Amino acid sequence: MSTLSLFFEISAFFLAVYALCAGGAYLLVWTLGRERYAAHRIQQRPRPAQVRREIFWSVVSILILSSLLTVTWLIAEAGWSLGYFDVADHGWTYLAASVAIMAIVHDTYYYWAHRFMHHPKVFRHVHKLHHTFTNPTPFASYAFHPLEAVVEVAWYAPLAFVLPVHPYAVAAYIVVLTVLNVISHLGYEFYSPGIARWFITSTHHNMHHARAKGHFMLYFNLWDRWMGTNMPEYEAAMQRKEDDAVPLRYHGAHE
Ligand SMILES: [Zn+2]
Ligand SMILES: [Zn+2]
Repeated sequence: MSTLSLFFEISAFFLAVYALCAGGAYLLVWTLGRERYAAHRIQQRPRPAQVRREIFWSVVSILILSSLLTVTWLIAEAGWSLGYFDVADHGWTYLAASVAIMAIVHDTYYYWAHRFMHHPKVFRHVHKLHHTFTNPTPFASYAFHPLEAVVEVAWYAPLAFVLPVHPYAVAAYIVVLTVLNVISHLGYEFYSPGIARWFITSTHHNMHHARAKGHFMLYFNLWDRWMGTNMPEYEAAMQRKEDDAVPLRYHGAHE
């Protein structure tokens, strides 16, 4: 397969996962379920222009991520990394375990990379664009500046030299990452405080978008707890939602 068609296939897969997950969530929750889930909504409704910007920057980032994944595929094909192409080499159990290992490595990497991107000298050049969406929708899941897209995927290249990874594992990981990114940017809260203690929630990430400080994790509520970067009112806000079913509206605005 030529390099260009490989790039097209990876991009088409990545864009299809994004369109299905972000588009599906937006349709089900923001549009069809608007009244049914009103008590779960945690932010104001964005203007259509914002959604168009979220989609534009997400598509740009996905094309950048796909081009870097194409390079890592070519490196594996050349035999320079530990990437492999026959599932039988390590079996299906290992393949599933490699997806879990990627999630753990990425989560730790992302926490520190995210803190780095919030350094004042780095923020405005790399991460500010993602924070222009103070009330993000699922379409903002990959709405990054091109430089941030490079930071977002930089953990994977060195990992490919120490962990054997099959393209199916990368494909599964893209689905996991996109689903959880969509939940983080959903703008509606469906989780209980028990889940919030261990995993990221839409409320957690929404507070990060609204205030641009604290709450740096990707999946697990571990590094933020260990490093004291959870906002003190976070768990109380989740509990209040559970007790009273009161919508959490951090922006205090209504359409
Ligand atoms: Zn975000
Ligand atoms: Zn941030």
